[in-house]
Amino acid sequence: MEEDLTTQVVVLESHMDSFLGFYKKNKDNAHNLQEFTKELLNLNSLSVIIQHILENARYFFNIDVISLCLIDEKGEIAKLLNDDGFDWENNQGLMLLNSNELLTSTFSVSAHPYIGLYEGSKYSIFFEKFHIKPVSIAVTLLNRRDKYLGALTLGSYDPHRFIGTMAFDLVERMSSIITVCLENNLNFETMQRTSFIDTLTGVNNRRFFEQRINEELDRCQRNGEPVSCLFLDIDFFKSVNDTYGHQGGDLVLSLVAAAIKTQMRGNDVLVRYGGEEFVALLSAINENMAFDIAERIRKTVEALRIELNDTTIAVTISIGSATYIPGSEKCAKKDVAEQLIKLSDAALYAAKHNGRNKVENGGVFSTLHPTTRR
Ligand code: GH3
Ligand code: MG
Ligand code: MG
Repeated sequence: MEEDLTTQVVVLESHMDSFLGFYKKNKDNAHNLQEFTKELLNLNSLSVIIQHILENARYFFNIDVISLCLIDEKGEIAKLLNDDGFDWENNQGLMLLNSNELLTSTFSVSAHPYIGLYEGSKYSIFFEKFHIKPVSIAVTLLNRRDKYLGALTLGSYDPHRFIGTMAFDLVERMSSIITVCLENNLNFETMQRTSFIDTLTGVNNRRFFEQRINEELDRCQRNGEPVSCLFLDIDFFKSVNDTYGHQGGDLVLSLVAAAIKTQMRGNDVLVRYGGEEFVALLSAINENMAFDIAERIRKTVEALRIELNDTTIAVTISIGSATYIPGSEKCAKKDVAEQLIKLSDAALYAAKHNGRNKVENGGVFSTLHPTTRR
């Protein structure tokens, strides 16, 4: 009798141990999720959020590999990440898919996460970039309002890390938080980008210029490099509209903008400043170089032939340039920006006055209050 009781106590104690172990593990997991989420919610750019998921989820959840795949039908995510200088090399776990076909063929929208052994035939796509494949995995869809955003796959080299009988509420909770964060930031960043783009020509708008010129002047003052500004205006554009209609005018505007872009470096800024006026901001470009670039643009536009119905339209452009070289006097960015526009606009006026289809140099300045020479 006494022996029976002792045996039962031993059995109970062992159950108790495993129960306490289980309880502690759950508590740790919940704590880790809370910490991971807290950090995630503080981040405000898509590229940083993705990096946080790929780097820190491994540490927080004691897993060996993590794969995040996102649906990017229009290439918007790729563009946002590239513009943000995303480090693809060190974030191999990110995969962009141009359709949701792969996910719809593997899961149904309402599917719970898959937790269990890694089956190469079904899940290898999520770990293509990894040389060592996981042994056990948890795959969860990132979806909201029946729309696929992507999938998150956690993998371990330990076959017991993810087993079929495991509860999936924690993984589900984690994926819903990640989904909301990704979706919000994606929407916000896309909206912010489009608000800086001129819809007709696809180049940036004046609002973008006002923000970007400050960054550019900061950079040039820091590096002691010049910055040049071109003011460009299509010649006799009113008569293009009068002859070919407003639609013809619109076509000319967008093709001239594209032609100007071809003569600029990828990270130089071109904005549509007004109706048929553009401003280009050229970083680390001095007075002579700015003049040469403006000449190249002028010749490119002059050579442009625009086909509209049965006619061919040719236009020309006039350009004024101005250059700022940071000097010893610290100038307010707002004043430098104003002066760049003022001088290049005055030079443009001179180009128009001198017969159009011309480039005029509005000069260089390095201080806004020139000292009087004796
Ligand atoms: P100049 O050589 O002196 O620059 O002469 P211009 O005819 O180009 O200049 P003006 O300022 O007299 O006319 C500009 C025209 O640009 C008038 C306006 O109707 C037209 N315009 C402005 N915005 C748009 C637009 O978005 N689409 C079209 N099609 N026309 C536009
Ligand atoms: Mg004009
Ligand atoms: Mg004009």
